Amino acid sequence: MRSLVRLKMVTDELRMREATGQRIGALSANGDSFLMSEPGRILVIDDRPTSLRRITETLANEHNVMVAETQEEFMRLAANDDFDLLIVSLTLQEYDGLRLCSQLRSLEATRQTPVLAIVEEGDTARLVRALDMGVNDYLVRPIERNELVARARSQLRHKRYQDYLRDKFQQGLELAITDGLTGLYNRRYMEGHLATLVDDAANTGKSVALLIFDIDYFKAVNDTYGHAAGDMVLKEFAERISGNVRSVDLACRLGGEEFVVVMPDTDLAYAMTIAERLRQCVAAKPFVLDETGRTLDVTVSIGIGVTHGPHDTVAKLLERADQGLYRAKRDGRNRVVAEAA
Ligand code: GH3
Ligand code: MG
Ligand code: MG
Repeated sequence: MRSLVRLKMVTDELRMREATGQRIGALSANGDSFLMSEPGRILVIDDRPTSLRRITETLANEHNVMVAETQEEFMRLAANDDFDLLIVSLTLQEYDGLRLCSQLRSLEATRQTPVLAIVEEGDTARLVRALDMGVNDYLVRPIERNELVARARSQLRHKRYQDYLRDKFQQGLELAITDGLTGLYNRRYMEGHLATLVDDAANTGKSVALLIFDIDYFKAVNDTYGHAAGDMVLKEFAERISGNVRSVDLACRLGGEEFVVVMPDTDLAYAMTIAERLRQCVAAKPFVLDETGRTLDVTVSIGIGVTHGPHDTVAKLLERADQGLYRAKRDGRNRVVAEAA
């Protein structure tokens, strides 16, 4: 009962997330015909030759079956390959089948993989412990072929359904936090992340720097060359920016032709160096507008803000960077201006 309730809780949770994803339009509905379309990858450990032969022969009709000779080999294969089902004899002579099951459940790589245990008739104590550890289902010796096929199929179906829901959820998350045109993080994600960083900076005493970019005279790009050319510029701009910052720095598109780079553990002097480098990286080389190879010179104005002390807020940081940007525009564009000292 516990084992089944656990399975249902996981599946229900994933199903709810999928429903939410569909509601916000991030996920599309889909049938479940894919669930049994491919053969499963199954790993077996059983030191009784006749029983092992029966298992591998029976399952080989539908699936790819691998056999591990030792407990170590089993763990290594299970952790490194993506198996759909693990079959473990609980009555191994030289190894402890129960311990194997508990290892499988504690390891991140195998925690979600279904385990089918094989027990002796009447060995209820061992079976109960195995089920408590999270073994998904079991077979009693002597193994009945049709039962084995049916139980393997049922575990595979569950596994694929959970994988599917998990992937969908991951895709939905990505769509929700990234900008479709440039692939950079979006404003919503940036605001959340910035709040975390500013809190963290208050605790550690380190400062966070924020660069705000606004492409110069971008409306004219659209008006002269069309919206599609404008989009090309935005994409290349995003690539140049994100390709020229550290991996700890977060590049985001705020909206329109406005971008932000958030830099943790960065002081004003370093932020100015980076901002100047990024400004040059945009101005140095013309942007490609379309497949015919037409190009255009593009420049950007950049405002910089950094956090001051432990009581600073996201709003104040953004405000400072914005003021820098405003002055950069007013002073003639294609320049970097940091907040007033
Ligand atoms: P400034 O130097 O003062 O920044 O001038 P600007 O023309 O860049 O300023 P403005 O904010 O007036 O123009 C921004 C333009 O960006 C307006 C809009 O047509 C364009 N734009 C906003 N989002 C997109 C987009 O996703 N794709 C394209 N192609 N254009 C966009
Ligand atoms: Mg603008
Ligand atoms: Mg602009």
